Amino acid sequence: RAKERGRNTFQFFAPSMNTLAVERMVIEKNMRKAMGGTEFQLYYQPKVCLQSGKIVGMEALLRWENPELGFVNPQKSIPIAEETRLIIQLGHWIIESACQQIKRLEQINPDISIAVNLSVVQFNSPDLVSEIKGVIEDTGIDPQKLQVEVTESILIQDSTLAINILKNLNNLGIKVCIDDFGTGYSSLSYLKNMPIDYLKIDQSFVRDLIDPTNETITCAVVALARSLGMKTIAEGVETAEQKKFLQTIDCDEGQGYLFSKPLQACQAEELLLKGTLFS
Ligand code: C2E
Ligand code: MG
Ligand code: MG
Ligand code: MG
Repeated sequence: RAKERGRNTFQFFAPSMNTLAVERMVIEKNMRKAMGGTEFQLYYQPKVCLQSGKIVGMEALLRWENPELGFVNPQKSIPIAEETRLIIQLGHWIIESACQQIKRLEQINPDISIAVNLSVVQFNSPDLVSEIKGVIEDTGIDPQKLQVEVTESILIQDSTLAINILKNLNNLGIKVCIDDFGTGYSSLSYLKNMPIDYLKIDQSFVRDLIDPTNETITCAVVALARSLGMKTIAEGVETAEQKKFLQTIDCDEGQGYLFSKPLQACQAEELLLKGTLFS
């Protein structure tokens, strides 16, 4: 197509494609160098009980500050970590760090849980369950306090394999949360066969609760979860109106800038000392 339009068009496209490819290579190079070092950090964003205002958990979110690249956001770094499979090593560090953080947080609040995001690549790695089991044993945490967040995309692949992995995770005692729920294409009929503890309503529905369609979808997800014996959490809660609506439909938990942005570990500990974010 570029050829049809002549040489100039082709020359216009080629450098921009190069820029992307080069950027990707530079990120990959720096990521390999950063492995095992101190450039990666986990931030923690509170999850709040919408009835009591109490912090009930935290989600670990990856942050990467590189001397050459500055802050690289997860939307950029995670896909490259997945393609290169560096996510396996990085993911192990994330699970390990989160479990160590559970030990610290439980001294402040014995019931607090921490959620880690699992990439599909990690989820499909044959070692995932034994790896998590190993970290639980090494750190000595109560497995009930560890949550994993996975997206619906794991449910649409090979569902029998996914069900088996979820069952094995469930047998370890850890909790499973389906992240960004409502944005994927998971068949609802699969859900009833799966040991899932939480549905996390995607922030795109929460953000525009003014839109009656999103209100309807959010209500329907809460009702679906309840009828399947699962709990619900809404992500991206930014306004008091959104919180109020979620409370009226009995959504269990909320997370978002209204309550707190993701925090450095020490700040998260300080906030947990406060314990309750509204009453
Ligand atoms: P996610 O798991 O759905 O995380 C929610 C994202 O929304 C986070 O962005 C969070 O900082 C942001 N957020 C939280 N509250 C609000 C709010 O009130 N308003 C708005 N507009 N945004 C809010 P973040 O940290 O940039 O992460 C983006 C995505 O990258 C995550 O989406 C997750 O899919 C992935 N990710 C982050 N950390 C990890 C990790 O450690 N491992 C893996 N595999 N993926 C990760
Ligand atoms: Mg998440
Ligand atoms: Mg999410
Ligand atoms: Mg999301």
